[in-house]
Amino acid sequence: MVAARMAVLGRGAVTPAEPVLRGDDLGVLRGDGLFETMHLRAGRPFLRDAHLDRMARAAEAVELTLPPRAQITELLDEIAAGWPAEVEGALRLVCTRGPEGGGPPTVYATLAEVPASARDQRRTGITVATLSLGVAAGHRPELGWLPVGIKSTSYGASSAARRWAAGAGVDDVLWVSTDGYALEGPTSNVVWLTGVTLCTVPAATTGVLPGITVRWLLDHAGELGLRAEERLVTPAELSRADGVWLISSVRGLAEVRTLDGTALPRSPRTAALRSHLGYPAPPAPR
Ligand code: PLP
Repeated sequence: MVAARMAVLGRGAVTPAEPVLRGDDLGVLRGDGLFETMHLRAGRPFLRDAHLDRMARAAEAVELTLPPRAQITELLDEIAAGWPAEVEGALRLVCTRGPEGGGPPTVYATLAEVPASARDQRRTGITVATLSLGVAAGHRPELGWLPVGIKSTSYGASSAARRWAAGAGVDDVLWVSTDGYALEGPTSNVVWLTGVTLCTVPAATTGVLPGITVRWLLDHAGELGLRAEERLVTPAELSRADGVWLISSVRGLAEVRTLDGTALPRSPRTAALRSHLGYPAPPAPR
């Protein structure tokens, strides 16, 4: 087990037990901050610049001033230095609005091994239940005032959904809209295959997080002889698809084995998609 690490902008490496936030930090008081989680492979964060671009867009949307990009990349280089190349890491970058009375944003990074449970789910697949998010598919972007598609530290709904999943005895949740469409998981996007078309839910018109991992996969679908499409889908349609996965940076691709208790056919393409994305082969059963 490689020891977890932490590094703070302006301070450098600190032990993970060391306090890095003031009690009046708006990240704590209001969940007023942004974060990104990246997959560290061969010692480097996969798709780092796409993650930093998404954080920069989000910062603009919530009027949060980020430090210069060079300082952020230096922080990421610092925390990743010397991490064993063969160990998968989960690299988190956090940027809060800083102290309540004003002051610079609080910026720090954490790095830990990818949990065995996440790596196992690439092999075993996951059981998923749908859960209403209480909004119509197009509602949030239509509001106009609400920043959507940002990776905010305000993750109350995601945490609640995960607790609900644990209580319901499933591995994960697929949020659905009040008008009956699949949206996303609390920490993942949904991707499905119909024939040779790999699909995901459009972020701009639904307000789901524009996932970096699913974007890369759809942009490179042609290399696997697949087409890519963004469209709405219902859970009923998903249960008839030729493969359904939840996808995110650290866990990678987890095939949906059952949806609301109904077994889905396992896709023969899961291994090819996972390895195209560059995630290591899942560990053998322990
Ligand atoms: N949707 C939500 C709500 C998420 O929290 C995440 C990742 O944490 C994703 C989708 C997947 O995004 P990414 O591929 O950038 O990790």
